[in-house]
Amino acid sequence: MIEEIDYQRILSHVRKKLGPLSDKCWLTTYGLSIDGYAKITVEGKQIPLQRAVYEYIKGPIPEGLHIHHICHVPACCNPNHLEAVSPQENNHLKRSKVFWVQLSLFREIK
Ligand SMILES: [Zn+2]
Repeated sequence: MIEEIDYQRILSHVRKKLGPLSDKCWLTTYGLSIDGYAKITVEGKQIPLQRAVYEYIKGPIPEGLHIHHICHVPACCNPNHLEAVSPQENNHLKRSKVFWVQLSLFREIK
């Protein structure tokens, strides 16, 4: 679980940009890897940034669930755009075309 100081550090690396949803995506450059996802180190362990933010804002992630970006933007960490889904559901959602469209959009603006 991240602390307030970690959350503030994450927010200081966020650019709010209009995405596919009505409220803006929070695009982070913090710990961003080549696949478009971001990671943060907590207590010596690297965890996906979206999991860290989800847990900090919304509480513990139920066992075995993945965090899905409703906006399909991997680098987004707006808690309103994150939902906990089963791995099967997450894979299914990731394979949808819109995910790849959003990923290419993000690469263009980076
Ligand atoms: Zn988003």
